[in-house]
Amino acid sequence: MKVYKFGGASVRSADGVKALKNIIEKTTENLVVVISAMGKTTNMLEAVVNSFFNGKPDVMQNLRIVKDFHQNIVNELYGDKTEINSILAEIFENLKKMLSQKASLSYDFEYDRIVSWGEIISTTIVSNYLNLQNCKNKFVDIRTCLKTDDNYREGNVDYALSKKLVEETMDFSGTKIYVTQGFIAGTITNQTTTLGREGSDYSAALFASMLDAQSVSIWKDVSGVMNADPKLYNEVEIIPRLSYKEAIELSYCGAAIIHPKTVKPLKNKKIPLYVRSFVEPDKAGSVINDYYEKVDMPPIYIHKANQVLLTLTPRDFSFIAEERLSSIFSLLASYKIKASLIQTSAISFSLCIDYNQAIFNSMIAELKDDYEVLYNTNVELITIRHYTKEAIDKIIDGKNVFVEQRSRLTIRFVVPD
Ligand code: ASP
Ligand code: MG
Repeated sequence: MKVYKFGGASVRSADGVKALKNIIEKTTENLVVVISAMGKTTNMLEAVVNSFFNGKPDVMQNLRIVKDFHQNIVNELYGDKTEINSILAEIFENLKKMLSQKASLSYDFEYDRIVSWGEIISTTIVSNYLNLQNCKNKFVDIRTCLKTDDNYREGNVDYALSKKLVEETMDFSGTKIYVTQGFIAGTITNQTTTLGREGSDYSAALFASMLDAQSVSIWKDVSGVMNADPKLYNEVEIIPRLSYKEAIELSYCGAAIIHPKTVKPLKNKKIPLYVRSFVEPDKAGSVINDYYEKVDMPPIYIHKANQVLLTLTPRDFSFIAEERLSSIFSLLASYKIKASLIQTSAISFSLCIDYNQAIFNSMIAELKDDYEVLYNTNVELITIRHYTKEAIDKIIDGKNVFVEQRSRLTIRFVVPD
């Protein structure tokens, strides 16, 4: 069997869903099809959660945006008068009811139970559509099999239990195709959890590992792993082959190719990961595999926008030592924030983090108890892997560099966005 994963970009429109159908129909093997929320739905639902949790009046308006977006896709895919319209209407009725109550005190809990609807809705639409088009498949609500702890927004997967449940549920008796959600999961008491933003790749890798898949294919709107974002660069090239290690390094630096947790389950079982274009499905794309040989790599440019550069100096002027660092990191962890770059000096500690409006102020307030806090918002973290002098010149080109960090293969800059 194989695992196919379709990200948000590949199902952002009716045409995308049709392209998905064509790809699936051409495949002869048994398939687990893992789908993300359509287009930018997760961002839209985050706006819903933020309004809901903070008791803002625009909750229903934000929900309406989500509904209209899906309704348009459904109208284009199915015409009217189909069962899907009543299914969708019911989902949004229930969401409305949920959102007219008061939020609990846990942002992370509310986040997961609301944002997860993006994936439930996308898979409902796609699974239904495929069945109508005679591409027979079974819908699986993965929250019943992929089990995590209750660390909302970044659930830790209970691999052994999930494997057992996934094997039982997706045994391919009576169907060749399962359609299920990426990114979302459930606790043993059936609360909804998520695996962290962009977590669908990780879900796909987990199912592949649990079911001993031949391969995983991630279908994207680019033709493979590129050495730079084609939206930002004129000249880009495809990297046809990458080692697991290279892929982990790239995703750790913020490359949008795959979620950082994706590689480990695949590497352990030596399952290859293909990154392919759903627009040009006949092209080979890229493969991430167990390559040991040194593959020649071009410079790879990774831009991580919307960062904040924080500099912390202990108020008591004490050294930045282990206890200090560990308390800073536990604070970040309590906000589910990861540092994308860190730099220490004797009495100050700088780090880059993703900007998250919903929690930024309270996090800064907590830090201010013990530290002098300086920060620049709107900064960008640029990484060049396999850097050359020309590559650096091209990127820096007179920019004001706040931080520079260099190792043997990687150079990183923090610059104004
Ligand atoms: N829909 C989720 C997100 O946008 C998960 C994913 O796309 O992988 O983060
Ligand atoms: Mg995505």
